[in-house]
Amino acid sequence: MTNNHVTKLQINLNAVSFNLDFFKSKLQKNTKILAVVKAFGYGSEAISIAKKIQNDVSYFAVAYTHEGVALRDAGINNPILVLHPQLSNLQLIIDRCLEPNLYNYTILNSFIDLAEAQKLKNYPVHIKFNTGLNRLGFNSKDVDEICKKINSTNSIKIASIFSHLAASEDKNEREFSKKQISLFNEISDNFENNIGYKPMMHMCNTSGIINYPEAHFDMVRLGIGLYGFANEESITNQLKNVMTLSSVISQIHTIKEGESVGYNRSFIAQNDMKTATIPIGHADGIHRKLGNGVGYVKINGEKAPIVGNVCMDMIMVDLTSIDCNINDDVIIFDNQQTINDLANKSSTISYELITAISQRVKRETIS
Ligand SMILES: *Cc1c(COP(=O)(O)O)cnc(C)c1O
Repeated sequence: MTNNHVTKLQINLNAVSFNLDFFKSKLQKNTKILAVVKAFGYGSEAISIAKKIQNDVSYFAVAYTHEGVALRDAGINNPILVLHPQLSNLQLIIDRCLEPNLYNYTILNSFIDLAEAQKLKNYPVHIKFNTGLNRLGFNSKDVDEICKKINSTNSIKIASIFSHLAASEDKNEREFSKKQISLFNEISDNFENNIGYKPMMHMCNTSGIINYPEAHFDMVRLGIGLYGFANEESITNQLKNVMTLSSVISQIHTIKEGESVGYNRSFIAQNDMKTATIPIGHADGIHRKLGNGVGYVKINGEKAPIVGNVCMDMIMVDLTSIDCNINDDVIIFDNQQTINDLANKSSTISYELITAISQRVKRETIS
């Protein structure tokens, strides 16, 4: 059944293209772009976005294999890097022409065994190195042994080697980031000498693109920037907003002084007032921390604070001073500043707030 929910996330595809062009303008001509569309395109709509920009980027990346399969099912033909494949996914990766990140010996050896058993030749794979994040990847001291293994087979070809900065947005960690970059350069030299050809190198996420031009290498991995954020206000302000989350007023109540609103009676009216019930709750991604006056929505351009606790499927808001009716539009956010403000107020970051918008919310694209 198609989702006909009134609570909807509108995704502006032209804004995505605008943001892509913005980051492209920060790169050398030959630097490739890998667009990160994991987690449903950071909570938006990965497939529409991938279709919109498929001719403007070299690669897509997803975190998990089934996210890549969804792109293939939708007809996306670009190379797709799976950042975090699991042993149980390797056959599916081959079946759907996805390109695995091989980040430890277990997964490297298993993939080679599988590729050899199927007599594959030069299957493109990517090797990740850990240069300080301590999340996924081989260590620099592993290079000789990895290369020995790689040289022993013609079933795979190393399309790229890559690493990830631990604190690319944090200017206080510049020294650490620079050390990561120089370690990655050493790894790359050693790797290239060992295998006799030069795979692509990539290291930068969105903040890395802005802060470390010397680490753009052959390709950059652009994620949050596509969706309008850059971890830095001055850059975010130059990007276009991609996501607008809206709903409508379901019911309006007149509340008498002394009455309570919502679960656990956490709100008691100090005066006679008017509230509206909105069909969006914590199951849709409205964090419970935004309850009890912390968060707000906008109705007819005015702020209406959330009253009482956030329910699973609904919130109640104060519209005592707002002139409005049942079925009027409610804006939860329609710009990056509000998203960042709501993220701050729920003790999180834009990344978590947007990826938490659940699949119950209808997606609608405009371009
Ligand atoms: C998610 C991810 C990115 C994108 O990061 P942004 O900060 O969103 O640009 C890049 N590289 C890796 C390995 C990732 O997991």
